This record gives sequence, structure tokens and C-alpha cells, in this order.
Amino acid sequence: MMQEKQNSRRRKITEFIIPARRGKSFKVRKGHIIRVTDVEGCQVGDFIAFNAHMISEHFRTSHTRVLNNKIYLSTGNKLYSNLCNPMFTIVQDTVGKHDVIRAICSEPSYRVRFNYPDHDNCVDNLTQSLKEIGVEASFIPDPFNIFQNVDLDSCGNFLVKEPKSKAGDYIELKAEMDCIVAISACPQDLIPINAGNPTPLKISILEE
Ligand SMILES: [Zn+2]
Repeated sequence: MMQEKQNSRRRKITEFIIPARRGKSFKVRKGHIIRVTDVEGCQVGDFIAFNAHMISEHFRTSHTRVLNNKIYLSTGNKLYSNLCNPMFTIVQDTVGKHDVIRAICSEPSYRVRFNYPDHDNCVDNLTQSLKEIGVEASFIPDPFNIFQNVDLDSCGNFLVKEPKSKAGDYIELKAEMDCIVAISACPQDLIPINAGNPTPLKISILEE
């Protein structure tokens, strides 16, 4: 009931689809909320962000792990920058399992790991989508892997699993600063990260 009341005060500013295997960049103002919805289920979104006023400040996974003192982020946790400033707070999360450890997929990673250099990849998706809004990123930081389901066994080995997200599941990130955001609907179909079947994501920008 409280949740419904909270949501009813919100206004949707815009909404769009990131097609399967592609990326999209956009600006978000401090206080606005990005809702990332898994449209069909089992789809990872690679999420990065830059300070809109100083692009040298960007999301940093290592500070985020340390400042939250955990590797599994959910409601109430924050995403931090390379300057240890909070960039986003997770305000709602219907899944509760995301990843902030594994590297982003890229041309080199498909080449080295799978001998498949021509595979669609998240680094190219994010770089291209940033260019489309006029941002020349000198590098792509490691991402917050939304809906990605990776565990560690007792020896520290990765256990890569299918996402727990079902169709319609979502996470909401409230911006703590004006940001440039880029999200890739991860095209990885060679391991279970996206259950072998990359699908779209829906992005909604909300204000309270
Ligand atoms: Zn990827």
C-alpha cells in the first residue's frame, strides 16, 4: 500500500526501448529516477554513468563495492564514482540480484575467450551510443551489471547463472548528481548470462 502511494506521486518524463544487443545513452537530472525493466526476462543491462558536468568523474565498481561493503547490491545501496561521490541510490528492486564484479564484454574479450572478435559487444554499444548524444568517451568504465546473476563458490571461482529477472521485473536508480548514462542490452549469447537469448530492455525516466 505504501509502495503504491509512493509510485502514484511520480510522473513519467520519458520511456524508450533499448533493442536486444544494442545500447542507448541519455542524460538524467539529479533527483530523477531511472527504471530499467527486463521486458522479456533473463536480460542483463550493462550500466555506466559519468558526471554530466565533468566527464572525468565516472562510475567506479571498486569504490562501490568497498563503500557498500558488499558485492551484491540492492535497495538502499548506492553507486559511487571514481571520486567516491554517490551517483545513484537504488530505490526499488524487484529482483535483488545484480553484479558489480565481472568485466564488461568487449571485442578483445570475445576474441580472447571465444575466438569470436566480430561478436556484438557492450563496449562498442556504449561507445557508439555515447557518440550519438555527442559524448566522446576516452574509455568505458567497468559497469554495474543489472540483473546479472554471478556467484562465487567457496574457492572464489565464478558461477555464471541465468538472471533471476522475469518479464516485467525492474530496478530503479535515483540520480544523486546530473549524469550522462549509457546502458547496453548485453549481446552475450555464448554463456548463460542472458539465458542464451539476448532481448530488449525498457528505460523509464521518472520524477517524484
Ligand atoms: Zn555485454
